[in-house]
Amino acid sequence: MAAPVVTLKGVGGFEFDLPTGLFINNEFVPSVEGLTLDVENPATGETLTTIASAGVKDVNKAVAAAQAAFPGWRATPPLEKSKLLWKLAELFEKPENKQILQSVDVLDVGAPAAMVDFTLPQCIDNLRYYAGWADKITGKTLHVPGGHAYTVREPIGVCAGIVPWNTPLMIAMWKLAPALATGNVLILKMPELAPLCGLRFAQLIKEAGFPPGVVNIITGEGRVAGQALAEHKDIRKVSFTGGGVTGRKILRAAADSNLKKVTLELGGKGPTIVFDDAQFENALFWAFMGFTMHNGQVCAAGTRIYVQEGIYDKFIEAFREKLAATSKSSKVQGGSGAEGAGKTPVISKVQHEKIMAYIESGTKEGATLLGGGNRIGDKGYFVEETAFVDVKPDAKIMKEEIFGPVASIAKFKTEDEVIAAANDSAYGLNAAVFSSNPDRIRKVSDALEVGTVTVNYWGALNMNTPFGGVKESGFGRDMGEEALDGWTQVKTVKQLSLPTA
Ligand code: NAD
Repeated sequence: MAAPVVTLKGVGGFEFDLPTGLFINNEFVPSVEGLTLDVENPATGETLTTIASAGVKDVNKAVAAAQAAFPGWRATPPLEKSKLLWKLAELFEKPENKQILQSVDVLDVGAPAAMVDFTLPQCIDNLRYYAGWADKITGKTLHVPGGHAYTVREPIGVCAGIVPWNTPLMIAMWKLAPALATGNVLILKMPELAPLCGLRFAQLIKEAGFPPGVVNIITGEGRVAGQALAEHKDIRKVSFTGGGVTGRKILRAAADSNLKKVTLELGGKGPTIVFDDAQFENALFWAFMGFTMHNGQVCAAGTRIYVQEGIYDKFIEAFREKLAATSKSSKVQGGSGAEGAGKTPVISKVQHEKIMAYIESGTKEGATLLGGGNRIGDKGYFVEETAFVDVKPDAKIMKEEIFGPVASIAKFKTEDEVIAAANDSAYGLNAAVFSSNPDRIRKVSDALEVGTVTVNYWGALNMNTPFGGVKESGFGRDMGEEALDGWTQVKTVKQLSLPTA
């Protein structure tokens, strides 16, 4: 039995159909146990639609489908794999598909237009980048005493990708493209708060011509469907992006089941470091963008801003003006996020309350509010861009990932002092450094305990540059050649040279 199809209204009011089922074996099916999930529009708090929610039996079905597909996909010539990934990229590019894919992220994520304009091309580039890798997965030839050895990089088998809600389509593609290029089969678990893009790109997977079972896409609750994937004995690898609490649960489940491989892309509390010798307007632009983009619901958000004493007062004044200007326009346009214009909402009521509690804690712990700090409107989940100054190093807003548009600003004197402050964090995802002194840039970049440093800008992602964290921001890399390591395992073959008869 096929799952029902619903009609939704996209950005600008156009109508489109969306299947509501679990995508298993290239078909949309309802949950075996009849489980469902309501999907909310965070701009209004209203239910957008109801879709299938995977239970343990559904996860088992998806794993069985993937297992059956693995031998065929593994044996598929690399150039055939490339062609299918390339075809998927072409489908993503078609204007009607683009419009729907971008609309669903606006509808359930509450994503701003600027965000979907950035993430969709990223998905397309990512598919093409790994399409190019499919026939370049090579090993080494090595000399051993009396003979030779070679290594091959093989697919791992049935893998799962668990995706967060902030940029679900882009992160799903970060997993799908290298997983398939290296010969694995995949079950993608879309986030319960923003699952709709998964239903649309599932249709495109089928249209592109991927064989049934190679990609299975399930929607459902993390504690049920996600946990079942992490515990499954026949899944050999989980690639997870999300919060640290969930990451730890997945590691525990892997340890208690079959010791599956796990890679974790977790949260961050990125430092933005502005030296006196930085180009002032450039640093101001990126420092502001770094904590406000997508309402700070970005793992790489630059939410700890350190400014050197020589420009501190000027910087803070300029920052205050930017906050005031944003807050004014937010109030005029508040509530229009669903249409893709003006201020956009944060993802949920729970997230909104969490952000407001952090803002309250900032004031309670003695920081000074520079601007923002208020809820916007009484419908949906909107909040002003907010910044605090004079934030103490051990304040909650300086230490914890808020995942909202809240920045903590502090003054520093010396390079060594700011390096120590920036590294005084459990996280280590990324950092941004602003300076015009090459020696200083080199010294500070070398000393920062993070996976990525951007110099004189913040946060850009590129297909060919690896992205991931150190410390409690996780391990493993998405993008770049390095991501391939997480989707392959090395086999060594050794051969003695026998004397010829
Ligand atoms: P989350 O950990 O709550 O959920 C992520 C995914 O895990 C969802 O699909 C969810 O359903 C699933 N899940 C929940 N419980 C599970 C369980 N017990 N077992 C298996 N899966 C389970 O995270 P979120 O709230 O969706 O996303 C926000 C977090 O993600 C932030 O901490 C953010 O920094 C992080 N993030 C990191 C990156 C990165 O690349 N490092 C990118 C985006 C988001």
